[in-house]
Amino acid sequence: MPDIRHQDAHAGVALKAAFEGIDHWIFDLDNTLYPAECNLFRQIDARMASFIEARLGLGAPESRRLQKDYYVRYGTTLNGLMHEHDVPPEDFLSFVHDIDLSVVARNDRLAALIGDLPGRKFVFTNGTLAHAENVIDRLGLDGAFDDIVDIVASGYAPKPHGTAYRRFIDRVGALPEKSAMFEDIAINLQEPSFLGMRTVLVASEADWMADEPSDRRPARKSHVGELDYIHHVTDDLAAFLGGIAPAGAEEPEWRQT
Ligand SMILES: [Mg+2]
Repeated sequence: MPDIRHQDAHAGVALKAAFEGIDHWIFDLDNTLYPAECNLFRQIDARMASFIEARLGLGAPESRRLQKDYYVRYGTTLNGLMHEHDVPPEDFLSFVHDIDLSVVARNDRLAALIGDLPGRKFVFTNGTLAHAENVIDRLGLDGAFDDIVDIVASGYAPKPHGTAYRRFIDRVGALPEKSAMFEDIAINLQEPSFLGMRTVLVASEADWMADEPSDRRPARKSHVGELDYIHHVTDDLAAFLGGIAPAGAEEPEWRQT
């Protein structure tokens, strides 16, 4: 099956080997650390359209069209609103992150697996620090990360723009060739791969971003494609991390699930 490459017959040993020496682990937040199917980001997506409707006085269809046009052209909807309409980023970000986090379930297994990874761990998100901290708290991942690099820390330069990654690397001091990055949006892994990072696409069955280009929306399991900058694909982040964990790192109870 091409959609879950890490489960290929001989992949177990090869997979561990592919991550040997990695000591910087970089995780996207939304739809990566929690499953896209919980629809948390769908709430954010809808809030973005509502913000545009109210701020620009547009109808719903035109707001949605503009939202996705800016997303594709500027990397984030916010970046387009800042450039084209001088929208204060704080107004937008506080509005779109006012959401119901109860749909995000605690994930103790993921916390244990991230805790066992050797080296430093980071969240690198186009969202805000406050949103990241809220989600991390819901997941039970408090204390799991050495740093959270948000869109403000990135100077509002979003992934997939190269500036965002350069600022990230400068801030945390990561060596790309000793770094691995996990993301649900394929295009956000292009620059990391170019820089020398190992890339993991976290796919899902979420289908609520059908009006976004396939490499810019949460990746479907069927959308592995032939993208040479995607080194690994999984639909279960915790299972994937379990597969690359050093021998004995996982608690036995996790292996039974
Ligand atoms: Mg994401």
